Amino acid sequence: LQGYVGFANLPNQVHRKSVKKGFHFTVMIVGESGLGKSTLVNTLFGTTLYPGKGDVEPTDETPKTVEIQSLSAEIEENGVKLRLTVVDTPGFGDFVNNEESWKPILDNIEERFDAYLEQENRVNRRKMVDNRVHACIYFIAPTGHSLKPLDVEFMRRLHTKVNLIPVIAKSDTLTEDEIKQFKQRILDDIKSHNIQIYQAPQYEYDDPETIAENRDIINKIPFAIVGSDREVETSDGKKVRGRKYPWGVIEVDNPDHCDFVKLRQMLIRTHMEELKEYTSDVLYENYRSEKLETMGV
Ligand code: GDP
Ligand code: MG
Repeated sequence: LQGYVGFANLPNQVHRKSVKKGFHFTVMIVGESGLGKSTLVNTLFGTTLYPGKGDVEPTDETPKTVEIQSLSAEIEENGVKLRLTVVDTPGFGDFVNNEESWKPILDNIEERFDAYLEQENRVNRRKMVDNRVHACIYFIAPTGHSLKPLDVEFMRRLHTKVNLIPVIAKSDTLTEDEIKQFKQRILDDIKSHNIQIYQAPQYEYDDPETIAENRDIINKIPFAIVGSDREVETSDGKKVRGRKYPWGVIEVDNPDHCDFVKLRQMLIRTHMEELKEYTSDVLYENYRSEKLETMGV
């Protein structure tokens, strides 16, 4: 199963449209250091990512601000190619004063909107490059309590600019009951702060199986994530991607153990086109009209 992605299984119509346009999907990953962002990136795509053209190579120097590192990979499954860009943001929340941790991230998202806007205004619009961020996975520390002020501030600043998908990091450190309660508390917090996370639509015209699959994915938000880029051996000798404990193995790819598979399905199979469309038709359009208004156009 390693490396299995699933975009070749997209519903036919969506699939054909995407093949014609070329798959190009950009995901941003945000959260405090040590929560497993880099590990998830590797787990998610089960492939080696390389620095994109013109991007800064990762270094060991301690940065003084949030860095923006963009990595790209071309993944192929059953002859279908996907160019995937993952934008990592090391440094977020690492400083004595984190009041403006969200700022470089917002700036980066808006720069990408600006780059798109600039292309739209060109005479020749045949070769548009879409580097807009289609989804932002936000890592919440597995405290079991509630959202931190840093989480609330980030989401409040960004929710009108990007599709926010909150996840519980390192959920193997919580029990099943704790996860259940923590999820509810996170959703309550999000609601009471009027934060708009990504609302995955339910398609009524789908077949019952797809509707059930969608509902199952949506009900798992915020996804409880376990990441691992290593294989471990289960008690019956199976080799799986997971994390080993004295009492057993947590399998990354087992939906009974964590929500990793659901997150991947949502991003790459069930909601990829929808995330792109919402980014383009709503988030970008709002940004664009506001910008043109302030410019007096
Ligand atoms: P980042 O700073 O957010 O990029 O975090 P890393 O991916 O570098 O992970 C930090 C540490 O946490 C490493 O030792 C990982 O092996 C470990 N780690 C990553 N994901 C998980 C997880 O899901 N569960 C547990 N228990 N540890 C994890
Ligand atoms: Mg990292």
